[in-house]
Amino acid sequence: MINEIVKIIENSDTLIGDFNAICDTGGRFAGSPSEQLACEYLSSRLEAVTGITPTRAPVDYLGWLRGDAVLERVDGTDGTFPCVSLVRSPVTPPMGLIAELIDVGRGTEQEFSALSDNISGRIVLVRHEYMFATGTIHRRRKYQWAIEHGAIGFLIASHLPEVGPVTGSSGATPERGIPAIGISAETALNLTQDSSTKIRIRVDAKEMPRKTSNLILDLPGQEPEWVVLSAHIDGHHLAESAMDNATGLAAVLSVAAAMAPRMNRFRRGLRIALFTVEEWALAGSRVYVDGLSVSERQAIKLNLNLDSIAGSPNLTALSSDFPKLETWLLEHADAHGHNLGVHRPIMANSDHFNFARHGIPATRLVAGFNEYQSDIKYVLTPEDTRDKVVIGDLKRATCLTAALTAQACAADELELR
Ligand SMILES: [Zn+2]
Repeated sequence: MINEIVKIIENSDTLIGDFNAICDTGGRFAGSPSEQLACEYLSSRLEAVTGITPTRAPVDYLGWLRGDAVLERVDGTDGTFPCVSLVRSPVTPPMGLIAELIDVGRGTEQEFSALSDNISGRIVLVRHEYMFATGTIHRRRKYQWAIEHGAIGFLIASHLPEVGPVTGSSGATPERGIPAIGISAETALNLTQDSSTKIRIRVDAKEMPRKTSNLILDLPGQEPEWVVLSAHIDGHHLAESAMDNATGLAAVLSVAAAMAPRMNRFRRGLRIALFTVEEWALAGSRVYVDGLSVSERQAIKLNLNLDSIAGSPNLTALSSDFPKLETWLLEHADAHGHNLGVHRPIMANSDHFNFARHGIPATRLVAGFNEYQSDIKYVLTPEDTRDKVVIGDLKRATCLTAALTAQACAADELELR
């Protein structure tokens, strides 16, 4: 039965069509028409492949609409530099914010401490880094350290040449934040030529309460237990959010299509959960999992979350500190001929975290973990485009997802807590 599901996916040609169609919707920034378009497409495709209309589970969140961002030297030389405001950055006064720049290097806690006396009242510059690696320091932590040391503005530079400015979430809240801007590697070089550079930054944006929806679809099995297969819909405006996360969404559609007509043969049900506002500190999945009753959470035996599953041929499962889950993943990946890496420490970098936080065994499949040169390095840059995805890699990742999902739905016992 499990091999049959995998075979269907091997022989299906809808994966690529779905992947391209999702990329065609654009970057899917939350609150944009592109996100809406993607939501409509995914809803109609889920209905087409399963015969069931997905439920739109409402999510209220504080929307943020990006306006212009400007960065220039105060002396006016070099004109303005290309830049983008980070998601949910507070606005500056209309005329901008003028201050001296201070280069904090990579932006480690030690670097912030060493320069502590010089940070207050200045705009800090740190570097973005490869997102999926053991020692990655997330931009939101650097941003918090900048605030703690009294900085009044935050610049983060791409670590890659010739790809333009980097984006991402700032981690600002209405109560606590400083204006935050992503810049290119070249701009960082230019601004740090002199020992002291005075710059002006301006950020324009609008905040307003917004509503969006997660798409939830239940394919019941023989017993009232569930395996949740999830992926996030939203992305960033710079490109088409191809690796992050059109890859995961397309794979979910293929697995749903293969499983739906055969669910009466499976012990557990398959719940498809397409979350949005993931890039908003995982808001969509937080609202969903927090909103379940204790017994509903107990009925979920596994969350398999797909986020950026191609961009490298190598896949890693982030196993969220569940040793039994890790053993199970390795055993069944191997049984189906897949080489799977594992990383045990819990990582709050995608929707699986909100399941794990509630004690539900949850894992994220991600490509390129600890592979600094893989195309995954382009995530959050204008280069996150479909040409970075080798179709064979996406197909293999989808086959592994299908094998694990079908195995989890079929198993007599599935106690991975
Ligand atoms: Zn993602």
